[in-house]
Amino acid sequence: MLPTMMDTQLSVADLIEYAGSNYSAEEIVSRCVEGGIHRYTYQDCLRRTKKLANALTKLGAKQGQCIATLAWNTYRHIELYYAVTGIGAITHTINPRLFPEQITYIVNHAEDQIVFVDLSFVPILEKISDDLTSVAHFVVMTDRAHMPESQLNLLCYEELIEPESDSYDWPSHREDAPAALCYTSGTTGNPKGVLYTHRSTLLHAYAASQVLQASALNIILPVVPMFHVCAWGIPYMATMVGCKLVLPGAGMDGQSLYELIDNEQADLIVGVPTVWLNLLTYLRAAGEKLTSVKRTLVGGAAAPLSMIREFQEEHDVFLLHGWGMTEMSPLGTVNNMTSAMTKMPLEERYRVQMKQGKPVFGVELKIVDDNNHELPKDGKSFGRLMARGPWIASAYYKSEDKSSWVDGWFDTGDVATLSPDGMMQIVDRSKDVIKSGGEWISSIDLENTALGHDAVSEACVIGVPHPKWNERPLLLVTTHKPTTKESILTFLADKVAKWWLPDDVIFVDELPHNATGKLYKLDLRQQYQDHLQSSEQ
Ligand code: ADP
Repeated sequence: MLPTMMDTQLSVADLIEYAGSNYSAEEIVSRCVEGGIHRYTYQDCLRRTKKLANALTKLGAKQGQCIATLAWNTYRHIELYYAVTGIGAITHTINPRLFPEQITYIVNHAEDQIVFVDLSFVPILEKISDDLTSVAHFVVMTDRAHMPESQLNLLCYEELIEPESDSYDWPSHREDAPAALCYTSGTTGNPKGVLYTHRSTLLHAYAASQVLQASALNIILPVVPMFHVCAWGIPYMATMVGCKLVLPGAGMDGQSLYELIDNEQADLIVGVPTVWLNLLTYLRAAGEKLTSVKRTLVGGAAAPLSMIREFQEEHDVFLLHGWGMTEMSPLGTVNNMTSAMTKMPLEERYRVQMKQGKPVFGVELKIVDDNNHELPKDGKSFGRLMARGPWIASAYYKSEDKSSWVDGWFDTGDVATLSPDGMMQIVDRSKDVIKSGGEWISSIDLENTALGHDAVSEACVIGVPHPKWNERPLLLVTTHKPTTKESILTFLADKVAKWWLPDDVIFVDELPHNATGKLYKLDLRQQYQDHLQSSEQ
């Protein structure tokens, strides 16, 4: 039987065409790396994207080649997302917070032909340029007046696109053609590449835009960087639904974020918990309130109860968790407000908000034991969380490593519970969970409980070897006012099981974070590996 539907192909460039024509007056507002605020419309963006597409072609960019960006969230980065992928090349976003050796590895592995770089990151390129094997051009994302002095032969973005025509016909391609490339942060070993297709990107954008539509949100401010998992797909979702986009550039501190949120009246702000800790600290000190924001979408790490409560009670902002990872484009689950939640007493609702949410349509989840046998979805059993779906990776780019896939399911590296109603809650990363005397302790739960103590700014729990219990939890904290170990342990005592209580509390000036802003526990585990060896607790 022949179906009767058209065989049109999903294409990323169609998104900017769509927004440029149907939401032509909606704005993209950016905090510029050079200083000041830049403001233009989707129509302007489409015009400049086409100029850039012509410039790229003139520079020799070809279909299937990788073109890299080392850049903040700004309008020029948006233009690159669409022009590079639109001409049939691959937008390869690089996280500038990685170590220089990792960036060198990534550029060479992807065989990047051109690197587009923000002013802030030119020094990184200067350091590694001798070791880059494939790059023909470096382009600085600025105008002539701001071009830096450099020993590198640098091209200027504005000069490149200025003489070009603003008409361009996007070439056609199959929807399974590659569109964008992101590398995981590579906590151990080299970073691994995930190559998204036009199809996976568009399907992900359709599914993820439910977050906007379910809550009638129109003005998004993604703090989550465009150099990490495509800013969780927001540049694609925003054009798909014609939302105003507010881009913070390099201004990630509390005051800069607050000013932009307030001036542009953002109603959805998106980022990792550490960014919101800074914002909330600023707001508290300055006595300011968020008046326009309705929702904050938080992912990358679990948001603590204290943060959920502060957003709600001080700013009338509903915090919803999203969960995912580079290999999942990234969205796997989202914890949207439901009608049941609207009727719950606040404290009960907060408990629900602490969970990571239900799978978005298209993503399937299951939990398995060490022998890959499926475990019940009863909200209590926990095991390795496996996922599959049309925007989940089935391999790493140019890699033979298949160890993360079992029978067509991707092993997320997380340990979780699943409830009968589909609700997922992360227990821990499998490598961070603490195995004490045959029982498991969730480092995430302990950290988030410790954050409720009024002196604690940031908390990190690691498992360290113990002569009797195999491993025991150690709590490291940064504080913003004086306190004692006893005060923190007493605070925890009635909130967690007795055998979960950390064996020691260590006060530090700073905690280490990885390139995506997450606590980096590997070195800490090494540093403190002997801390409890002599104790006989
Ligand atoms: P990487 O680049 O190392 O893959 P990602 O930024 O993609 O890192 O992070 C993925 C991991 O972040 C997930 O496996 C999970 O452990 C953690 N994570 C993401 N979202 C959440 C969340 N809402 N709550 C708790 N942990 C989360």
